[in-house]
Amino acid sequence: MNIHEYQAKAVLREFGVPVPRGIPAFSVDEAVKGANELGGPVWVVKAQIHAGGRGKAGGVKVVKSVDDVKKEATRLLGSTLVTHQTGPKGKQVNRLYIEEGSAIDKEFYLSMLVDRARARVAIVVSTEGGMDIEQVAHDTPDKIITVPIDVATNICPHHVRTISKALGLDADLQKQASSLITKLYKAFTEKDMALLEVNPLVVTKDKKLICLDAKVGFDDNALFRHPDVVALRDETEEDPKEIEASKYDLNYVALDGSIGCMVNGAGLAMATMDIIKLYGMEPANFLDVGGSASKDKVAAAFKIITSDPKVKGILVNIFGGIMKCDVIAEGVVAAVKEVGLKVPLVVRLEGTNVELGKKIIKESGLNVTSGDDLDDAAQKIVAAVKKAA
Ligand code: GDP
Ligand code: MN
Repeated sequence: MNIHEYQAKAVLREFGVPVPRGIPAFSVDEAVKGANELGGPVWVVKAQIHAGGRGKAGGVKVVKSVDDVKKEATRLLGSTLVTHQTGPKGKQVNRLYIEEGSAIDKEFYLSMLVDRARARVAIVVSTEGGMDIEQVAHDTPDKIITVPIDVATNICPHHVRTISKALGLDADLQKQASSLITKLYKAFTEKDMALLEVNPLVVTKDKKLICLDAKVGFDDNALFRHPDVVALRDETEEDPKEIEASKYDLNYVALDGSIGCMVNGAGLAMATMDIIKLYGMEPANFLDVGGSASKDKVAAAFKIITSDPKVKGILVNIFGGIMKCDVIAEGVVAAVKEVGLKVPLVVRLEGTNVELGKKIIKESGLNVTSGDDLDDAAQKIVAAVKKAA
């Protein structure tokens, strides 16, 4: 789960991390009021969307009067911001963050994330902070330094020294870095974050190390421990299909392709996506209905898939172990009866109660092609979609 910059900064502030003062605003009036409260003389008007790259897209403006705060707030609120992270459709700006301006001397990059290969939290830093870290990673990967942290020791002085050296910090800044990194790490681990990205981490003209931007994502599997974090959720930033899926406890991720997939088991779902690609098309989603899905859950999943206008064909691939094929068949039939079926559907069923499952589908009179195995089913759905196009 992701949160907005202003929320991330509030979380970091709780841990004593230095961030500029700021006030969120949902209207132009609130923006003006916030600007007056902050007092200036320099303000930053920042669009709050769940995507980076705002600076280059005009979503971050440094201004020197309350009038200009008002002007930028009026321009941004309700507008659609297209950044290199939003995709071509962009994201609508519904919230702003009005911040006191900082005089920047240097901009660094710092992030923390879970390095799965090392099974550790990794701190990633670079002197090349600011707006183009993706470009830096691509062109000059040696300018990005990764420091893995052992959970048995947490942050040690030698980690701070390594990072300070990489960033070229003097003794005073190194002291500030030690405190800042320790606090960020505490926030990361205590709040079960999946990603904490500070870009830029800046040294101000008066030699203070502060977090000028903050992007935070949390581990969904740990959200039950953090009701305060769940309360920060902004559903307008999320895919409505994924929100619907989460209500039914379905593991669903929307993708860009045209073949909707309903599969049981994450591994089989991955294999199904791979095989669709192998036969020349792209999956429209990842969906694992799980092992203990009820008919209603299967029907909900099927409806989510059919509600996606990108879906030009559906492949149901079930290997019934704990999951029973007849339950899947009943769910699919119930969903189609309710919402109809406008695209080709290929169903491959195997395992527990497979005969019963096939019978239910056959007797429903649905226009379904059955697949004999994974290869056959993938080829059939790709062919059917191509034919229908
Ligand atoms: P992003 O583009 O979405 O990552 O948004 P950021 O919050 O990182 O802002 C983009 C850029 O705006 C930063 O890299 C800074 O160069 C600039 N910026 C943000 N806040 C300030 C500020 O207080 N003072 C100055 N001078 N520049 C700022
Ligand atoms: Mn940034």
